[in-house]
Amino acid sequence: MTKTFPADRIREALAAGHRVFGENRVQEAKAKWPALRLEFPDIELHLIGPLQSNKAAEAVALFDVIETVDRPKIAAALADEMARSGRRPRLLVQVNTGAEAQKAGVLPEDADAFIRDCRDRFGLAIDGLMCIPPADDPPAPHFALLSKLAARNALSVLSMGMSGDFDIAAGLGATHVRVGSALFGARPRDAVA
Ligand SMILES: *Cc1c(COP(=O)(O)O)cnc(C)c1O
Repeated sequence: MTKTFPADRIREALAAGHRVFGENRVQEAKAKWPALRLEFPDIELHLIGPLQSNKAAEAVALFDVIETVDRPKIAAALADEMARSGRRPRLLVQVNTGAEAQKAGVLPEDADAFIRDCRDRFGLAIDGLMCIPPADDPPAPHFALLSKLAARNALSVLSMGMSGDFDIAAGLGATHVRVGSALFGARPRDAVA
């Protein structure tokens, strides 16, 4: 995760061979990544932050993977934009495993129906699931729940785990861990997804 880090810092990771990155804001990604992509065309950029439907066109244009599909309005906006542009970013559904009021994501009990809706109603291929467990909870039960929901829906991609718990997530089946501060140091300013 390179949110809040300037292009110069990101370029160091690119020079070291890293190619998969995440950002949590469309505007910030738009300011940093088009130029980096010209230098490194094989980058894979993930949107891992709240998405508003009025940003769907920009998100589809910028990102290779959108990890935060979580409601019909966004699914519909992405489907429209993907049809219009011909671009097909891969999509993950965000699950609010801790049912936190302030956090985005579909509730666990609604996940199966929402994934089905994405496929059948909006014609979207969903590749996997993403979660951000509550800060104060042990993360393992949340990762286990996400893993179970993915298996039940035949989804192969599991985005879970951050600097503090990526090892636990990897042990529970994560295919993508999202490491920010452990690689880049403390963020210049606080930016919570
Ligand atoms: C910032 C962020 C991360 C990385 O957090 P660290 O604790 O710095 O590794 C992971 N996931 C999401 C959604 C984020 O916004």
